[in-house]
Amino acid sequence: MNLLDLLFPPRCGGCGGDGAAWCPACAGALRRPSASTLAGIPLVAAGRFEGPLQRAIHAYKYRPRPQLASVLAQPLGRAILAAGLSLPALTFVPLHPRRRRERGFNQAERLAAQLSSELGIPMVGGLTRVRVTPAQVGLSQAERRANLEGAFRWTAAEPPGHGLGLVDDVCTTGATLTAAAGAVAEAGGSIGAFLVLAVAQTLPALAVT
Ligand SMILES: [Zn+2]
Repeated sequence: MNLLDLLFPPRCGGCGGDGAAWCPACAGALRRPSASTLAGIPLVAAGRFEGPLQRAIHAYKYRPRPQLASVLAQPLGRAILAAGLSLPALTFVPLHPRRRRERGFNQAERLAAQLSSELGIPMVGGLTRVRVTPAQVGLSQAERRANLEGAFRWTAAEPPGHGLGLVDDVCTTGATLTAAAGAVAEAGGSIGAFLVLAVAQTLPALAVT
């Protein structure tokens, strides 16, 4: 515990309880979803988008509490190890620069950086959100796909490489992840796994096998 924790004891992002940023009860309530794939690519998640994890992700992004990345990345790191994936590098879903300025940080980038140091896997940036997309909430899967058409591009000078782990906070329908993976493929690389904190239970059966 550092001095700041002594002066300002952390509150749990999941239940609001005092003493820890992510308490053992909330950590123990995680239900890891069964293995699945999205567009033929393995999808690894720390838990389902429900209960304490849902509240913690909301606090992480919108309150905002960027320091929650360090505790939220831990169960995702364990899920990645349990999946037995061998990933040469990690990359992340970008925010549009305007959105990133408003929030002050990119939640997916923070998670990727944390996972990179925990798992000893290098992190590479390169995906750029080239246009602002309207909020996805309330859109059907087909509408989300259309909404994200051409939204991402790989803009780094170096090509993306193959088998990258693509990090995001939540997978709702998979439209964002598959659009970002498409941009990596267009640049000559490939995504080896999607890595998210939480997966919504509303994933359409057709997209997930
Ligand atoms: Zn808690």
